[in-house]
Amino acid sequence: MPLLRSAALLVACLCIVVSACACRPHDAPSATPDPHDAGRARQNVAFVEAPSASASVALPAPEPPFDPDDPAFKADPEDFQPKTPARPGDWLARFKQRNQDFGEYVRSRPTTRTSVRRQIVIQPLGTFTDAERELLDKLREYMSVFFDTPTRLAPPMALPDHGLRKHHDDGRSWTQYHTVTLMQEVLRPNLPADAVCYLGVTMSDLYPEEGWNYVFGQATLEQRVGVYSLARYFPAFWGEKDTPEARQRGLVRSFKVLAHETGHMFSLEHCTRYECMMNGSNSLGEMDRAPGFLCPVCLKKLQWNLRFDVRARYGRLRDLYRREKIEPWASWIDKRLRRIGPAPAPL
Ligand SMILES: [Zn+2]
Ligand SMILES: [Zn+2]
Repeated sequence: MPLLRSAALLVACLCIVVSACACRPHDAPSATPDPHDAGRARQNVAFVEAPSASASVALPAPEPPFDPDDPAFKADPEDFQPKTPARPGDWLARFKQRNQDFGEYVRSRPTTRTSVRRQIVIQPLGTFTDAERELLDKLREYMSVFFDTPTRLAPPMALPDHGLRKHHDDGRSWTQYHTVTLMQEVLRPNLPADAVCYLGVTMSDLYPEEGWNYVFGQATLEQRVGVYSLARYFPAFWGEKDTPEARQRGLVRSFKVLAHETGHMFSLEHCTRYECMMNGSNSLGEMDRAPGFLCPVCLKKLQWNLRFDVRARYGRLRDLYRREKIEPWASWIDKRLRRIGPAPAPL
């Protein structure tokens, strides 16, 4: 369990998100949010041949529409559970957060892709074993499917020789890296121009400031950078045996945390309404209890923002989960797809 050395700071966050939107006033929800924000530009489009045989110009495929009445956004009780009451030590027991509803999300002018900032970029920081490099490849693919956004791995970068400390706990000691140093001195100067968000990923442990014993990750949304450690999701960190089951648990946790954190990058706040991948987590145990899918409200926000085909995205996620032997998540999608049926015909 994460614990803090300082009695003055009795919290240990799964993630810290520094966001201007957290300070934004929450207005009354709009009944008919404008799904066609003038500032948005969809670039993640497939190209199809123009209909005329003589034409040589490729046209973008039509953007999947946003339909607020799509059954995919209905909270069928068979598939979604209201948020269960917080247990002692859980995120909502420590932080009182209200839910960001769909109208608030739309009016917050969420981060989205533009004609220039069109990719998610994952930045490996430090050294990775062969197995960990395979994990990075899987994370890259997962991000591209989950957010229906091109995602690439940047060439690895070394961790800095400053902004680090030796941490001692339970008779062991190890090096931890300072998240703010990594974001401001390593990531920001290298932020790719085409990155809608730039995610530093490391297998080393992190800390955000003195007084904290560690943090899983930290992001600053305005600057579009974040840094996350996967170290604590795997048995090597705990000095435990590296078994297939432990690796699988680490993969599931890594999928969850990257999807959750990248959701923040697209301006999704913590979900307090349903059991959902965007629930805040205050410990590994709480993160393990969270489901591996977005609730219908968070899915609606993301589809409004990124305009993916909900059913095609579900299908691609289901295939990826099945390949990675995450059968409960794959079966949930099968069930969900049967319930929501085909996309409603356009009016
Ligand atoms: Zn979070
Ligand atoms: Zn949600």
